[in-house]
Amino acid sequence: MTGLVLRTTGSWYKVLPIEHQADLASNGSLPSVDCRLRGNYRLRGNKQTNPVAVGDWVDYELEEDGTGVISEVRDRRNYIVRKATKLSKQTQVLASNIDRLCVVATLGFPRTSTGFIDRLLVTAEAYHIPACVVFNKADLYGEEGSEESLWDIHNELKDIYEAADYPVYAVSARTGQGLDLLRAAIKGQTVLFSGHSGVGKSSLLNALAPGLDLRVGEVSDWSLKGKHTTTFAEIFPIRLAGEEDSYTYLIDTPGIKEFGMVDLAPEELSHFFPEMRAVLHDCHFANCTHRHEPHCAVKEAVEEGRISAERYNNYLGIYDQIESGNVPR
Ligand code: GDP
Ligand code: ZN
Repeated sequence: MTGLVLRTTGSWYKVLPIEHQADLASNGSLPSVDCRLRGNYRLRGNKQTNPVAVGDWVDYELEEDGTGVISEVRDRRNYIVRKATKLSKQTQVLASNIDRLCVVATLGFPRTSTGFIDRLLVTAEAYHIPACVVFNKADLYGEEGSEESLWDIHNELKDIYEAADYPVYAVSARTGQGLDLLRAAIKGQTVLFSGHSGVGKSSLLNALAPGLDLRVGEVSDWSLKGKHTTTFAEIFPIRLAGEEDSYTYLIDTPGIKEFGMVDLAPEELSHFFPEMRAVLHDCHFANCTHRHEPHCAVKEAVEEGRISAERYNNYLGIYDQIESGNVPR
């Protein structure tokens, strides 16, 4: 049998059998199987503390008592990690096989900095997770063309991020505007929403999937009501409004403040800005850092407006942070 790991608690794994995914009950009761790992399961490498993570596809055999024994963990398409402990070199896999990171931001009340957005996008690139940017609270952006309107800023940022190949959505969890496009983009996928607290992640998920019933207005990260005593991630199969023939899998990472920065060497950083990656082979120096070197294709592209100056400035800022070891986590 094959299934998707939804939750891990100690040495038990809650696995959703693949053949039941079509007939999940929308109100909870999942036909899941509690599984353990086969005793002699050999860990591949020893850099990670947990052999099985949520999002993993596993092969398992059913025992007479209805529990399962996992014999194989399928190769991961991608995964996110955090350090097992502060000083440790070992990492813990938080979740795997993530189809999309939705960076939730707002243009006002309060405004999310592009520096913050770009740090999340860099992390997504480093993890090989396709990302998009969701500007929430669009109901507060004012009348387009009016003096205090935030739509000019929105349109500017939309151009910048779309030029870097990130889809951009303007939505309102309150009025529902723009939600259809976002729903269509994430339908059937395994998605992770990330962003500062207060940008409306819980509200947005409630609006996308009515009946989800997430707490709104909490200072902490969003999480499902009454759950979680641990800081393990969990996957919730949900039905988006209007979704009938599939499920969308929501990754919840309780207690994990932000989708933090991965360990990067500064000279790798430009590879995680897609628009820089596209031109950097034209730099004169193979080890160009795109800061002060002559004949730098990245700087030329910025001067000619082909690469956004805002994104480039954020590149410089993140570069300095990595170099000085001063990366926010
Ligand atoms: P989270 O911390 O990211 O989960 O944010 P919440 O969902 O808890 O929302 C934070 C605050 O923003 C709450 O007071 C919400 O009512 C408000 N809010 C969320 N989405 C919207 C929206 O689309 N428009 C407006 N005007 N307020 C919103
Ligand atoms: Zn360069």
